Amino acid sequence: MSETFNAVVANEIDGKTKAQLQRLTLKDLPDEDVLVGVSYSSLNFKDGLAVTGKRNICKRFPMVCGIDLAGTVLESSSDKYKAGDLVLANGYGLGESYWGGYSQKARINSDFLVKVPTEFNLQETMAIGTAGYTAMLSVLMLERQGIKPGDGKILVTGAAGGVGSVAVSILSNLGYEVVASTGRPEAHAYLTDLGASSFIDRIELSAKGEPLSVEKWAGAVDTVGSQTLANVLAQTRRGGCVTACGLASGFDLPSTVFPFILRGVILAGIDSVMANMELRIQAWARLASDLPKEKINKISRVEPMSKIPELAEQIVAGKVRGRVVIDVNT
Ligand code: NDP
Repeated sequence: MSETFNAVVANEIDGKTKAQLQRLTLKDLPDEDVLVGVSYSSLNFKDGLAVTGKRNICKRFPMVCGIDLAGTVLESSSDKYKAGDLVLANGYGLGESYWGGYSQKARINSDFLVKVPTEFNLQETMAIGTAGYTAMLSVLMLERQGIKPGDGKILVTGAAGGVGSVAVSILSNLGYEVVASTGRPEAHAYLTDLGASSFIDRIELSAKGEPLSVEKWAGAVDTVGSQTLANVLAQTRRGGCVTACGLASGFDLPSTVFPFILRGVILAGIDSVMANMELRIQAWARLASDLPKEKINKISRVEPMSKIPELAEQIVAGKVRGRVVIDVNT
């Protein structure tokens, strides 16, 4: 009998997505060119939506959930990788269109894989994971738009979440003055430790505001969307840049053109899923140089795969602080 291993698999039952721990064999895995022995995955907001079935994240069934993974190459028919290489993957539709990382073994298209930077071990890469890499993409975007430390305050919304925690850490490490927006006063000490210099309650940003208001931010990393993003745009200084990656509050954007046409504000979208390989490698290299290890440890904790259903409910409810690494082998 062939060896079996654990995976969290989503199926569609009576029109609803139901994800549960299941035993798979190598024969069940898709036909891709690299077999990875997965060590870690992580918990991202999108995983929460997929596992709880609150949004239709899975494009086909059965689907192994988990939008990222890190592990060791076991077999490869690609000349880019050989057995023993340490690799990571995120996005490209993993856990949506292609089987993902909540599995002890995964067959992955070699074009989706990134070599683990030598500065990181496998656990650290998933402590960063999709959320942390998206935070880095957001910082790279602010830099590309010319926003420099010393230009003024940078606002991070959803600051105690995964993207937010890593964004606060990187920006403060680079010398930016970081203002954290959070709905959790109990997270202030944690965010101060990561480098936030002051706070704004998220309620202040989620109420309907003016199309333009007092200029406060040289730049912003928004993970929340909806009215919050509209208010952030209205408060951004002339020539400032706001990156938008998330929809923790909602996917609408009740804004006007005023911030753009009267202040030249730039709204820059962040798409981590289909970011090209050159940008991915740049982002991982910058994470290695600009995200201090002690901050990775402060931000993250490790949980077993059996806790994914419970954790999925928590992250969708905005109750997870920082990053959760999933040890798929416990
Ligand atoms: P988390 O759940 O870890 O963080 C989201 C944070 O948003 C929460 O911790 C909370 O922060 C805040 N929040 C939650 N609900 C609300 C609400 N109703 N109103 C205002 N704020 C709220 O998720 P991630 O950090 O992993 O992801 C953040 C967002 O970014 C998600 O929408 C996710 O889908 C998106 N994302 C997009 C990517 C892309 O490629 N575009 C890639 C990765 C993530 P606090 O308690 O501090 O207020």
